[in-house]
Amino acid sequence: MFVMAELSFKDRVVIITGAGGGLGRVYALEFAKRGAKVVVNDLGVASSGEGKDQKAADKVVNEIKAAGGVAVANYDSVEDGEKIVATALNSFGRIDVLINNAGVLRDVSFGKMSDADWDLVYRVHTKGAFKLTRAAWNHMRDNKFGRIIMTSSAAGLYGNFGQANYSAMKMSLVGLSNTLAQEGKARNIHCNAIAPVAASRMTETIMPPEILELMKPEYVVPLVLYLCHESTTETGSVFEIGAGWVSKVRLQRSAGVFIPQITAEKVKEQFEAISDFSNPQYPTSAPESVSGIMSAVNQPSQVK
Ligand code: NAD
Repeated sequence: MFVMAELSFKDRVVIITGAGGGLGRVYALEFAKRGAKVVVNDLGVASSGEGKDQKAADKVVNEIKAAGGVAVANYDSVEDGEKIVATALNSFGRIDVLINNAGVLRDVSFGKMSDADWDLVYRVHTKGAFKLTRAAWNHMRDNKFGRIIMTSSAAGLYGNFGQANYSAMKMSLVGLSNTLAQEGKARNIHCNAIAPVAASRMTETIMPPEILELMKPEYVVPLVLYLCHESTTETGSVFEIGAGWVSKVRLQRSAGVFIPQITAEKVKEQFEAISDFSNPQYPTSAPESVSGIMSAVNQPSQVK
């Protein structure tokens, strides 16, 4: 019988932020089971970002060790990303995989959103991922190997009532991932974004138990493992994943309309054609986007 070779992470050094619970914990357990040396980072805060507790990371490290794996705890905030990377370097001498996973919520309708609600969500999601990734980046460049995951959300991709701050930051991580995929390609550093859906304390108050039962966080782990494996070439992509369902997401634009001497009135007149997605395009970089525009403008047949 044909048996598929296991995707091994033997001796790979993996940092997982926010790994004291939820999705981060199950990533940590599985990477360790497959031979990785894992930095289990967690500040041990409530979903809203309050408090601090070293027990969250310690518990997961103990679980890994009890199963015969290798792990070390780190209790810093992702806002101090360089300290978390230092833990990996001091403990294991390198950094191969970075899972930017830590997250908080400050849900409130937009008119009531305070500066503090915005700033905290920015600092943990966007700035945290930036700080970790920048600290790891040159080590990955020197090693000519790196696998990075950004954790986005359907709230960022599509919007969600009461989550303006969270949506903005989750979409910012897609932009960060897209550019890092381009900057990292020549050095074998791959970066992808995922929009997971899983039962955790973040979702347990908004989803009914029978749905939560289908959304085990364990079902998100396999895609992350695949994307982070040394044999995987995928980079610059966005995936939605949950309940055993996996999908790839991309931006689509309509073929567009060239409107000579463009005015608001002409835009109104052409709006249906502008919004016609029957002949879509899928630019994968900013230069590709601009060259598509230039070739449409230069097509004499379209100039009226
Ligand atoms: P969770 O609350 O169980 O886990 C988040 C962890 O991050 C917590 O253990 C928390 O202590 C830690 N954390 C928070 N702030 C931190 C900081 N400054 N530094 C270090 N650690 C910090 O939530 P989860 O559902 O496992 O979410 C994991 C990630 O997935 C988050 O980025 C979340 O936004 C994202 N996400 C989850 C879902 C879902 O359905 N669960 C959906 C979309 C996106």
